[in-house]
Amino acid sequence: MRKYYFIALLFFFAACSNNKVDTIIHHAVIYTVDSSFTVAEAMAIKDGKIVATGSNEEIMDQYKATENIDAAGAAVYPGFIDAHSHFVGYGRSLFQVDLFGTNTWEETVARVKAFADEHPELSWIQGRGWDQNRWPGKSFPTNEQLNELFPDKPVVLTRVDGHASIANQKALDLAGIQAGQTIVGGSIETKNGKLTGILIDNADNKVYDQIPAPTKETYIQWLQQAEKNCFAQGLTTVTDCGLNYKDVEAIDALQKEGKLNMRMYVMLSDDPENYAVYLPKGPYKTDKLFVKGIKVYADGALGSRGACLLHPYSDKPDWTGFLLRDKQHYDSLAQVLAGTDFQMCTHAIGDSANREVLNIYNKYLKGKNDKRWRIEHAQVIHPNDFALFGKASIIPSVQPTHGTSDMYWAAERLGTERVKGAYAYQQLLQENGWMPLGTDFPVEDISPFKTFLAAVVRKDAKGYPEQGFQMENALTREATIRGMTIWAAKASFLENEVGSLEKGKKADFILLDQDLMKVAPEKILDTKVKATYSGGQKVH
Ligand SMILES: [Zn+2]
Repeated sequence: MRKYYFIALLFFFAACSNNKVDTIIHHAVIYTVDSSFTVAEAMAIKDGKIVATGSNEEIMDQYKATENIDAAGAAVYPGFIDAHSHFVGYGRSLFQVDLFGTNTWEETVARVKAFADEHPELSWIQGRGWDQNRWPGKSFPTNEQLNELFPDKPVVLTRVDGHASIANQKALDLAGIQAGQTIVGGSIETKNGKLTGILIDNADNKVYDQIPAPTKETYIQWLQQAEKNCFAQGLTTVTDCGLNYKDVEAIDALQKEGKLNMRMYVMLSDDPENYAVYLPKGPYKTDKLFVKGIKVYADGALGSRGACLLHPYSDKPDWTGFLLRDKQHYDSLAQVLAGTDFQMCTHAIGDSANREVLNIYNKYLKGKNDKRWRIEHAQVIHPNDFALFGKASIIPSVQPTHGTSDMYWAAERLGTERVKGAYAYQQLLQENGWMPLGTDFPVEDISPFKTFLAAVVRKDAKGYPEQGFQMENALTREATIRGMTIWAAKASFLENEVGSLEKGKKADFILLDQDLMKVAPEKILDTKVKATYSGGQKVH
């Protein structure tokens, strides 16, 4: 009898104990993205964390909230996580000449001129986003017009992929670059013995080294604008693939001062200065910042023919591209990192670069493991090499919009056979059963909806191609959502904190005006983020 009394009492407390929480969101379609992809109606939040999810009745009977949000049937997803981006670089690019989408070199120069006229205070003119593959003739530009327009002011314009730049003579002079000079892991283009201004991969570092560091105010401006844009697109965590320890210190300080709220996973650049600071002390973690990755570049990009291929380019028969460093560099770094808690994350585009990195990773990881070493992009894979990912639990970190951006010319570079192993996301997913997705912004747009479209129907924003690009490698909607949330979290060792809406996790979530799991493909890009919450706080 006493036992029954006790159980009855429990029910009584459960029904009307009025557990106090901060927020209840109800009458929603909540994709929790838990292991069974459960859909809930309501969610209770306290102290920035999720207390419970369930039906409207369950949550509203058990909890009383200070704030009740009636979602009126809106779809709720975990905040999106971009597994590969350049957050600081994106912030910087917002204050430079925007050269994305230019259709000719002349149009590019005109934009630079207009920007320079508007900003006479700038000592350097910087721009980003040009892509000669969009222009008639598709050949690299030369710098004569920039030299005429800007004889005394240095100008450097980064290609869309960040793997090539064009600099004017003034910038080349300041950097001490001369015709005939050679550089490891880069190439300095000349025509008839004269510099053209085109600098590929490592060759442009010398120019960028000359640019004065931003003031603290400018830096804050970059990051705050980047954060605002990301929150507006439903991103609540971003991975920055390649920062200096000084950037990390600045970001950490801004987060602690409450000036920056974006959660960040950081990969440090492959630089002795960073190793000196971080290798002795190990990964660094706060509520909003986790520094645990090391970003290494194996090769360049396909668009600028810097990707390292096993066989020559189909559109440049004597050329295979190149590795950016000596093989020994990657091998010895992997050996060192295998003995630490750092995650090795290597950019590899060409099938040769991917094979080199896969072999080195396999050598030190020795079979299945939980070190979660990543290959960033994993773009062109030889058919024999896919299995090397699964063999050592190596994570392909891919960006679906790269596929739909490159599809216009990828077959010219690779030929019709080799291109089948490129942007092979479904095949790569099979290797470990999970895979993070990202954008590589500012190389691509920050929009997670473009990632969703590109992954699911393999079309670009124009709806091209009608049948989708290499559709055998499309991902399901569920896999794509996982790739943009929980799998992206897992790739950053953050899966116990973010990436799904489950008890105990941070209340990072978004309300959308239409449901990505159900909306017609042609309407995906119309999706609007009605609200974004980070740690239970409304940030958009
Ligand atoms: Zn990148």
